[in-house]
Amino acid sequence: MSQIQLLSLDFDGTLVRHWASPPYPDELVQMLNQLRRSGVLLAINTGRTVRLVEEALQVTGFPVRPDFALTSEREVFRWNGSTWEDYGGWNSRCREEHDTLFAECESLLSEIEQYLESTTAARLHYDENRFSGIVSNTSAEMDEICRFIETKRLDFPDFAYQRNSVYLRFCHLAYHKGTALAELQRLVGLSSESTFAAGDNFNDLPMLNLSFAHFLACPSNALEDVKTVVKNQGGFVASQESGFGICEALRHFFPNLV
Ligand SMILES: [Mg+2]
Repeated sequence: MSQIQLLSLDFDGTLVRHWASPPYPDELVQMLNQLRRSGVLLAINTGRTVRLVEEALQVTGFPVRPDFALTSEREVFRWNGSTWEDYGGWNSRCREEHDTLFAECESLLSEIEQYLESTTAARLHYDENRFSGIVSNTSAEMDEICRFIETKRLDFPDFAYQRNSVYLRFCHLAYHKGTALAELQRLVGLSSESTFAAGDNFNDLPMLNLSFAHFLACPSNALEDVKTVVKNQGGFVASQESGFGICEALRHFFPNLV
């Protein structure tokens, strides 16, 4: 039996597909339940906020309640049996560091704001009046926006962003799916050696790294960049989409799973 004790799984496009029915195979649910009965911990590692994780579980009817939700590509929550709660002090440090970052990067953010309004048809996203992200109309438009940000962020060493197809969220360089996963590992006393991670998009790249997870996988619908990164580190690139591909990957890494 494999020594995997923690699963770090992206949700949209990795566990569940929104473009075809069924959204996930029954086999995936059976496999995850079996693994959890044998003590394997399940973390959803997503760009969704914690509120949108709950919404996703309800809307898709996904019947497996994760032990942990790593949300907004940076926060760490634990399910306490009735609600999601901050796990340790990470989230409050994360919020403080982002308050500082956004204050320091005010001029950069207004430059990005002006560029978007004058040059693109992208929508600007605000959280509590703070310009916090972008939704573009096409992937090509987001490519262009990322190129602009890359040229402008050089003077702001802590400023970074996480991109998931046409969605982009600004963040501190030190916070992403990988470091959120590392904090969870620290809290539960596990390491990268016993961690499996799977994802499909740009924002998954930071956790699809051997320093955070020894066992890596992606479904067939993953971006080419993601497949290359997974393959180059000896990970498993599935031949099927989303949750169907994750079943293949789990069978690959857990040969005793029925
Ligand atoms: Mg995804």
